[in-house]
Amino acid sequence: MYKKLFIPGPTHVTEDALREMATPMIGHRTKEASNLQRNISDKLRKLMYTENEILLSTSSGSGLMEGTVRSCTQKRAAVFSCGNFGNRWFAMAEDNNVPADKFEVEWGLPNTAESVNQVLANGEYDLITVTHNETSSGVMNPVEEIAQVVKKYPEVIFCVATVSSLGGAKIEVDKWGIDICITSSQKCLGLPPGLSLCSISEKALEAAKKVKFRGTYFDLLQIYNCIQKKDYQYPSTPSLSHMFALDYQLDKILQEGLDNRFARHTQMADYVRGWAKDKFALFAQEEFASNTVTCVKNTREISVGSLNKALGERGYMISNGYGKLKEKTFRIAHMAEFGLKDIKELLSNIDDILEL
Ligand SMILES: *Cc1c(COP(=O)(O)O)cnc(C)c1O
Repeated sequence: MYKKLFIPGPTHVTEDALREMATPMIGHRTKEASNLQRNISDKLRKLMYTENEILLSTSSGSGLMEGTVRSCTQKRAAVFSCGNFGNRWFAMAEDNNVPADKFEVEWGLPNTAESVNQVLANGEYDLITVTHNETSSGVMNPVEEIAQVVKKYPEVIFCVATVSSLGGAKIEVDKWGIDICITSSQKCLGLPPGLSLCSISEKALEAAKKVKFRGTYFDLLQIYNCIQKKDYQYPSTPSLSHMFALDYQLDKILQEGLDNRFARHTQMADYVRGWAKDKFALFAQEEFASNTVTCVKNTREISVGSLNKALGERGYMISNGYGKLKEKTFRIAHMAEFGLKDIKELLSNIDDILEL
C-alpha cells in the first residue's frame, strides 16, 4: 500500500504528474528538447520572480548547492546555518577546498540580518549562502531582511537555498537581489526527486569566470554557456522524464495562481502550528516558523517511531526529527499539492492514535 507522504520530501506526486514522467523519449539534441527546456525556463522565471537565466541539473538539489560554492567563490564564502542543511553547505565548501567560514545559530532560531551585516562588514567574503527554509528545524529565515543588508555589499554573490520552499512560499529573486536561487523537484514543486534547478545572475556568472577550478558536472558557467550556445540544450543528457513532468507541473502551478498557491500553504501551516501548540509545542521560534514544514517539539515524550508505524498502518507517513533532533521532535510537511483537508485527515489520525 502506498502511503500519503507528509514528509519534507519526497512529497506526494499527483497521478497526472507521475504519468508525464512516462512520456516517450525524445532526442536531447533536437528542436523539441530545446523547446521543452525553453518553456520550463520561462515558467520558472515566473515562479522565481526573475529575469535571470535558469539552469537545470540532473541531480538532487545538493548538486547545485555544491556547484554554487565551488563555481562562484573567488575569495572566501560565508555560510550561514541554522540547522543541518546549512551545515551541509559548509561541508561542501570544505570538501571542495573552497575557503569558507560557518556562522551557525542554535537550532530553532533564524539567521538574522544583523549577523549577516556584521560578518560582511569586514570585507573578507565574496559569497554568502543562506538557507531560506531550514527543513531540519522548521525555521524560515528572514531572507527579505537579509537581502536588504546584502545589497550594501555589491561585490558579494548572494546564494539562497529554497530547496524546501520554492513553490510553497513567495521568493522574489530579482527584488531581493538573489544571485543564485536553488531548489529541488521533490519538495514544494511536487515532483519525483532527481532534478535540481536554479536561477543565476550575470554577476554570479562573471564571478565564475574568475574561478579556475569549477569542477565539470556542476560547473554552473559551463552549463550556462552550453544552453546559450546550443539553444537551451545541456552539456550532458538531462533527465528528460523529469523535464516533461516539470513542464506540466509548472503549468498547473501557474494555473492555480501563485498567490493562491502560497495562501494554500499558509493555511495548512497555520492549522498545523495551531495543532502543534495545542497538543505539543513548536520547536522553531514561532515568528520564524516555516510555512512549508512544521517541526514539533515532542513535549509529551511519545515514541515518534511507534507513532509513525501506527500511521503507516493507516496509510500515512510523517518524519522523525532530523539527526540530533530524532525523537526529540517530529516533522509534518505541508508542501506541494496537499490542502487543508489532507492535513486535517492526518492530524485527526494522530489524535486518534495518541488519544489526544
Ligand atoms: C531537502 C533539502 C536539501 C537537500 O536536497 P536534495 O534534493 O535531497 O539534495 C538541502 N537543503 C534543504 C533546505 C532541504 O530541505
